[in-house]
Amino acid sequence: MLDFLDPALSIFRAHPGIYFAFATIIGLMIGSFLNVAIYRLPKMMEHEWIRNCRELQQDAAAGDVPPPAKYNLVVPRSACPACGHNIAAWENIPIVSYLLLRGKCSACKTPISIRYPLVEALTGLLAGVIAWQFGVTGIALAAMIFAFALVALTFIDFDTHLLPDDITLPLLWIGIIVNMNNGFTDLQSSVIGAMAGYLILWSIYWLFKIVTGKEGMGYGDFKLLAAIGAWFGWQLLPAVLLLSSIVGSVIGIGLIVLAKHGREMPIPFGPYLALGGIAALFWGTQLSRLYLA
Ligand SMILES: [Zn+2]
Repeated sequence: MLDFLDPALSIFRAHPGIYFAFATIIGLMIGSFLNVAIYRLPKMMEHEWIRNCRELQQDAAAGDVPPPAKYNLVVPRSACPACGHNIAAWENIPIVSYLLLRGKCSACKTPISIRYPLVEALTGLLAGVIAWQFGVTGIALAAMIFAFALVALTFIDFDTHLLPDDITLPLLWIGIIVNMNNGFTDLQSSVIGAMAGYLILWSIYWLFKIVTGKEGMGYGDFKLLAAIGAWFGWQLLPAVLLLSSIVGSVIGIGLIVLAKHGREMPIPFGPYLALGGIAALFWGTQLSRLYLA
């Protein structure tokens, strides 16, 4: 089916260096797209909620509301949030453009967040490391899709405390599909992993709510752990949870001590789950061995 890829794949197999470089460059470009998704997906969700609310109040405002301008991951073109200057192609090259522009908008000189090149660098690095670890395989491609989704989820959760269903649910389904041919685990472990991932956090959520009367995390967290369970099987869930809780507590306590964060302010759990997911991707076998021992 994918025979037309064979020449490229044999070059990659013969010259791993070219393969790593290619994967890293593709990763950088996808990182650039992820920046757009991180910025726009929450806004698109908000537009959707407003639209739904308006539909409910239709009779009150019939005909008064103009249809909202088209806004998705492709349209409108990227523009400077400060002055509206349309970003030209040369200003959109991952990392390079940030350096050429010295971190400022070419029109209004407003500083551009360092986070944009950092997200690009992180995504490129992940793609390169995955290429190196998994070789020229379908599994490498699947692993990249997993890692890219987690990068987007991490930063969206940081910014908005949301984990969009548009990412978590497809991620869960893809995890099950990848394991239909025993990609990372067997199909049974994958399906049980999806259910267990959701149920573990769902139970903790309700227990916490009954005991303290507070909401400790969101439903997006349940879906993210379900997706991680679908990718790597239920066997890795304890290790993923343990790792994300430890890192989350250390950073959470650190933030409270530094007084940058109120004790009552919720700390998003998604980024730590994502970290646990990445650990499962790279060190899954070692983690499960450690756990079984
Ligand atoms: Zn500007």
